[in-house]
Amino acid sequence: METDRSRYIKCVKRIVVKVGSGVLTEDNGLNLRNVRSIAGQICKLIQQGIEVLLVSSGAVASGVKKIGLQRLPDERPKRQAASAVGQAGLILEYEKAFSRYQKKVAQILLTSDDLSNRKRYLNARNTLYTLLSWKIVPIINENDTISVEEIKFGDNDNLAALITLLMDADLLIILTDIDGLYDQNPRIHSEARLIPAVAKITKEIESIAGRIPGALGTGGMLSKIEAAKKMSSAGIPMVIANGKTSDILIDLMSGKESGTFFIPKDIKLNSRKSWIAFQMKPKGIIHIDDGAATAVTKRGKSLLPSGIVGVDGEFQEGAPVIFSKDGKILGRGLVNYCAFDIRKIMGLNSNQIRERLGQKPYDEVIHRDNLVITTD
Ligand code: GLU
Repeated sequence: METDRSRYIKCVKRIVVKVGSGVLTEDNGLNLRNVRSIAGQICKLIQQGIEVLLVSSGAVASGVKKIGLQRLPDERPKRQAASAVGQAGLILEYEKAFSRYQKKVAQILLTSDDLSNRKRYLNARNTLYTLLSWKIVPIINENDTISVEEIKFGDNDNLAALITLLMDADLLIILTDIDGLYDQNPRIHSEARLIPAVAKITKEIESIAGRIPGALGTGGMLSKIEAAKKMSSAGIPMVIANGKTSDILIDLMSGKESGTFFIPKDIKLNSRKSWIAFQMKPKGIIHIDDGAATAVTKRGKSLLPSGIVGVDGEFQEGAPVIFSKDGKILGRGLVNYCAFDIRKIMGLNSNQIRERLGQKPYDEVIHRDNLVITTD
């Protein structure tokens, strides 16, 4: 398939590179050769004028080895404690590796809660922008020691996708220990074939990815595909490639066809809209009819009360919600009315709102500026 990668790559000014535990660790702990190689390549790219943010795994895996545990513990507190041990060593080795090129690094630990809160989201962004302006390399990881199920990013592939959106980066590169997405698990099937480009993430792609688990980290191929979906909907390209291949970042950025390239949709979401689409946790669901679905998805209109047929959940004015038709999620938005009021005005024309509520602060339930379509 002709991907025309170079068309995307040559416009790239800022990238997020995510490196998985399988690249960064080996039997005895951190794989220092790979840590140095990644650092060296990033410094070369910075010299070429590209801004780079690094999302690095490897804390848990290297911590486990440093403590001398035989295998990854099942208990969460033990994994969290292992990550605390591993993270210190990880940053130390990055610091040493980058200092060979006179580059400074900064450690950023985040939870998904940090990015779903608008104020903390903006704070994180300002900090990262400041580091980039100082030419310091931000090294980001999930704050594993305090992340529990509800506040976990799930995995660093997802975290890297959210950072790409947060920072308006032009490309996400995910480095793993295999060459990209294969049509079957290459660790088991020697005849597995690499898929060089993906134009659309279909059910088939998802099911292929679901059969290729990660060797060490928590993500595997499926979480990379989840990240690719976010990138594609925001109009940002993504590559999965082998972080153990020497000069892989340099090659990719010179347009070489390595790994699997995910061609994005032909749109560009601004960072506020991608925050609405991907960072906020929805507080409810608004069910809409055919007419409203066409108006918002095809004609770029706001969502009016007349097209609403049901509301699930209790939420306040300003809350993030999902809207769907016949059970299919169409998009997300911020509501102008609380759930209680939407139930009262659904099905009505906007000029009947005042009569029903005693006031009419807005015509729309979700204004189009606060609405993002996430379906095809
Ligand atoms: N945050 C974890 C670590 O540093 C890795 C999570 C992942 O591999 O996705 O070990």
